[in-house]
Amino acid sequence: MAGNHTLMLIKPNAVKNGFAQNIFLEVHDAGFKILAQKKLQLSKNEAEAFYYVHEGKPFFNSLVEFMTSGPIYAAVLEKENAVAEWRKLMGATDPAKAEEGTIRKKYAESMEHNAVHGSDSDENALNEIFFYFSAREIVNAGGDIYQIHNIVKK
Ligand code: ATP
Ligand code: MG
Repeated sequence: MAGNHTLMLIKPNAVKNGFAQNIFLEVHDAGFKILAQKKLQLSKNEAEAFYYVHEGKPFFNSLVEFMTSGPIYAAVLEKENAVAEWRKLMGATDPAKAEEGTIRKKYAESMEHNAVHGSDSDENALNEIFFYFSAREIVNAGGDIYQIHNIVKK
């Protein structure tokens, strides 16, 4: 069964350019519940850990530099089939290939400076949500931790 949660990041270029509030509004208007959110700046170690799957790729160092270059927003999004739904609204990684109306089409500057992040599977969504938020923060924001873990409460 597809999960109902995903992790969104608003990347440093979009925050610097003043697009964060517009992006949150579009996410809300598309039917996502913004379960928890925070503004933070990644350290080099944190960015490397978050993007470890890309370690060794030619763009890795530059990606880490970009992701640590300023504040970002992290948010837990809730909607049925959240991973796929958020990736659809986000658009393709390369904004030149992103469909009209998608967030990346509107707010991305390039393949690297592409405005937003979204998890790519339910398993990664879970790991990524708990990279940025503690269970305590999610519960205190009114989130159902059982649902995030896809566990049916007895
Ligand atoms: P994200 O994981 O950030 O949501 P994505 O899943 O669409 O994006 P990935 O393949 O996971 O794309 O790449 C992670 C990020 O690395 C991209 O969002 C982009 O910022 C950067 N990136 C990926 N490929 C390239 C590339 N060829 N050149 C420059 N940057 C790249
Ligand atoms: Mg990805």
